[in-house]
Amino acid sequence: MVKPSSGAASMGFVAAGAAAGSGAQSPRESHPDAQKGRPGQPLPPLDAHPVVALTFDDLPAVGTLPPGVSRVEVATALVSVLKANRLEGTYGFMNGDKLERRPGAPQALEIWLDAGMNIGNHTWSHMRLNANSVEAFEKDIAQNEPPLEQYGEFRDWHWFRYPFLEEGDTVEKRRAVRAFLHEHGYRVAEVTLEFRDWAWNDAYCRCLARQDEAAIRWLRQSYLDTAAEYVRVGREEEQIVFGREIPNVMLLHATPFTALMLRDLLGMLRKQGFSFKSLAQVVSDPAYAEDPDAGLELGGTFLEQFMVSRHLSYPPAKPDPFQQIARLGQ
Ligand SMILES: [Zn+2]
Repeated sequence: MVKPSSGAASMGFVAAGAAAGSGAQSPRESHPDAQKGRPGQPLPPLDAHPVVALTFDDLPAVGTLPPGVSRVEVATALVSVLKANRLEGTYGFMNGDKLERRPGAPQALEIWLDAGMNIGNHTWSHMRLNANSVEAFEKDIAQNEPPLEQYGEFRDWHWFRYPFLEEGDTVEKRRAVRAFLHEHGYRVAEVTLEFRDWAWNDAYCRCLARQDEAAIRWLRQSYLDTAAEYVRVGREEEQIVFGREIPNVMLLHATPFTALMLRDLLGMLRKQGFSFKSLAQVVSDPAYAEDPDAGLELGGTFLEQFMVSRHLSYPPAKPDPFQQIARLGQ
């Protein structure tokens, strides 16, 4: 599998209306040290009782809205599935500038919080660390704190998710920002599982406008199949990096299509034996105290950071559907 960049996943649809999936390459696509999987070396069977904490990036408003659908309706749909699955306390990482720029965003955030969910810091402007100075990045983190304080008042909002999953292109930058976060009481919300969940949303909106029900059925199936494949690969990467599966953090985005698919996604995860834990419970695993401590030019999951910096071989994977999705309904 040419696994897409988790950094691109984190970009969502929000970067000045940029087309989704246009940007970053995967570490395994482009990093000279990232090696291809070697099918001759089977890994142990997957754990029967995996664990995951769900997280949502780019709150309070991300992704193109289908015609006639409001941010409030998307947020309401999302929290109703989370609540039905007793997933109150789920973290959403917010950018303060979206509160100002996106109609319905403050109301969507209120719905998220009123349903018992949490919020964390994702920088004010969804800033890319690898393209900015440490000083500018720290300023952007600090600028996001007043709305977090205002909306998150009694909540533990001192959790940080790096935009584009970029933790620094030099080890000096990486260490400086991590030290800043530590000094300011933040914990880093690393990601182990992601499948570029935002990439289906624009195609979904196009197919809805054309009333193409067959294409929407294909999108739904492809979303679940791709999620399952990326989850499998992520779990195998854990065996390669840590010699065992570790409790997971899954990155999702609060797009209309993920809101639509969340019930089925949770069903798929449960079928695979997953149980759901809080972010704090997951990150208390000793694996999360480890640090690749390397400058990486491309964003990536926690696992990809180890894979690239230690020159490990990725497990083999099926081809991904992203080119087909991008063409659908065009
Ligand atoms: Zn993001």
